[in-house]
Amino acid sequence: MTQRQTTGIVGGGAAGLAAAVAAAACGDRVTVLERMDRVGKKLLATGNGRGNLMNGGEPRYPGGDGFAKQVLSLCGPEELRRFWSDLGLCLSEESDGRFYPLTRQASTVLDALRFRLERDGTAIETGISATTLHWDNPGWCVRTDRGDRRFGRVIVCGGGMAQPKLGSNGSTYSLLESLGHTLVKPRPALTPVETDTAPIRGLSGIRVRCGVRVMRKDLCLHEERGELLFTDTGISGICAMQCARWARKGFEISIDLADGWADGEDRSLLSELDTRLSRIWKGQPAERLLTGLLPTRLAERVMSAAGLRVRDRSAESLTDAELLTLAAVLRDFRLTILGVKGFDAAQVTAGGIATDDFDPITMESHLARGVHAAGEVLDVDGDCGGFNLMFAFSSGILAGLNGRRNEWRRDRT
Ligand SMILES: Cc1cc2nc3c(=O)[nH]c(=O)nc-3n(C[C@H](O)[C@H](O)[C@H](O)COP(=O)(O)OP(=O)(O)OC[C@H]3O[C@@H](n4cnc5c(N)ncnc54)[C@H](O)[C@@H]3O)c2cc1C
Repeated sequence: MTQRQTTGIVGGGAAGLAAAVAAAACGDRVTVLERMDRVGKKLLATGNGRGNLMNGGEPRYPGGDGFAKQVLSLCGPEELRRFWSDLGLCLSEESDGRFYPLTRQASTVLDALRFRLERDGTAIETGISATTLHWDNPGWCVRTDRGDRRFGRVIVCGGGMAQPKLGSNGSTYSLLESLGHTLVKPRPALTPVETDTAPIRGLSGIRVRCGVRVMRKDLCLHEERGELLFTDTGISGICAMQCARWARKGFEISIDLADGWADGEDRSLLSELDTRLSRIWKGQPAERLLTGLLPTRLAERVMSAAGLRVRDRSAESLTDAELLTLAAVLRDFRLTILGVKGFDAAQVTAGGIATDDFDPITMESHLARGVHAAGEVLDVDGDCGGFNLMFAFSSGILAGLNGRRNEWRRDRT
């Protein structure tokens, strides 16, 4: 009788559980080691508890783009749909290519994974932390706070450092570093941006659709469009969070508040303001000029940033020069960046173990045969919209399959 391969998986998050399902499907004897009291805690928190599992659109990975694309070319949205269908999980597609479980509950995704692992007899040990990993002939030894565990191969899926309260605290980087892998300095990504608060005092809780740019002096480093949320300490919301990886203390955020209602031409913005002044608000107090375009408190802040003294003035008393200044501020409402929120608030980690030393087909290390890594522990991070879970699941599946043929993996042509 041939002996079954023993596969140890460090970390029972998205990548680890997908790897476990795939390895078990190939007949491996699988053990998952998870430091929290249960697996998949972060998975439950994703997409506000709804679990935005993947994205069917163009891959968007500001960190590790090339490697992520190689992985997705082997196990992308099509293969993932088959994977989930095989586990009995129905998906539903929403705007911008985002896929959620049909139930709109991330807990259903975790159940589908857990029940499959239960069916396949996979061992899940919780409340156990891996501390080191070394070769101990004839296999790999994972040292833990509850003794040593030995396996034929090991898949490291300990995640990054985002929201350590959900389990991933960066403790598995050292397992791979000890084998010669390089750690690219981890930084919080997809996290709110902290700015000076004087120009946005009183705006906390207000959401706007706008364009956002990260500026180093006059140089635009990154641009986003979408919904922005003002907070007590700066800005949040998807487009602000996607700016965080470019934000540095002393740089500026430029918000285009006219993005949603005036096209790129300043002429259209000026003509909108002119219509309001000469027709809609004629004879009315000047402070009403932006009513219906911006939330009232934000309109007041914009007027004040433009240096407009509107008190006791009528709309039509505003001069052309004042309108031009107002239009400029609407297009370029500036905030000085003080920093970004830390790992406690971040959704993902930029940086991690460098991908150069891993084979994207099997996720196996080139430096240590029999050691694989998948998910956020690697130096790959995606935009909001399902890209991070998608990479975690895809890379986890490839690591679990380890090059073996399966309907969830596309063969190289
Ligand atoms: C609030 C929030 C919402 C999010 N929403 C989305 C979303 O909707 N869509 C999306 O695509 N992405 C989302 N993300 C990002 C996504 O959740 C992660 O990128 C993804 O979970 C990474 O999967 P992973 O398995 O690599 O790591 P994790 O899910 O972090 O799992 C790592 C696991 O390893 C365990 N572990 C760590 N160290 C050890 C150790 N030493 N020994 C044993 N076990 C260990 C941890 O406890 C954890 O369970 C969200 C993140 C957060 C924080």
